Amino acid sequence: MKVLDTSGILHSDMDFSSSGYFIPNSILRELRDENAKLMVEQGIRNGYIRIRDPNVRSIEKVKETAKETGDLPRLSEADIEVIALALENKAEIVSDDYSIQNVARILKLRYHTMAQRGIKKQYKWGKVCPSCGLKYTAEFKVCKVCGSRLRWVGEETME
Ligand SMILES: [Zn+2]
Repeated sequence: MKVLDTSGILHSDMDFSSSGYFIPNSILRELRDENAKLMVEQGIRNGYIRIRDPNVRSIEKVKETAKETGDLPRLSEADIEVIALALENKAEIVSDDYSIQNVARILKLRYHTMAQRGIKKQYKWGKVCPSCGLKYTAEFKVCKVCGSRLRWVGEETME
């Protein structure tokens, strides 16, 4: 079981079928990127991502720890819930957020990052035709040339 935060979602390949992923409701609300939101909602429909909210006790525990490490001001409510959810389910966190990683380390939680160290990567989402390779923007569903169903693709861009 893995818990995703916003950076974990945005820096992933958006293929959530490989593992049991969990997110709290607050992450879904925090997600601004339209395409990422579509992919996550699709993952939820397919049962690859499940929504679960942490209990008050683990939220308090995370806040206490974050206060001690000095990370609390840098953590959003959603970030705190991600750590709390991982804490009560002994799950792994997927996040590129340094403050989340720091608090996770103190709480002895496993975590892993999507982006490489020191490099800020961003994905720009669009669609591509699997047959002719033509690129399209998000609103297209089928290829104008050959009629194939378009696939989502992420292009890596540097921030
Ligand atoms: Zn085509």
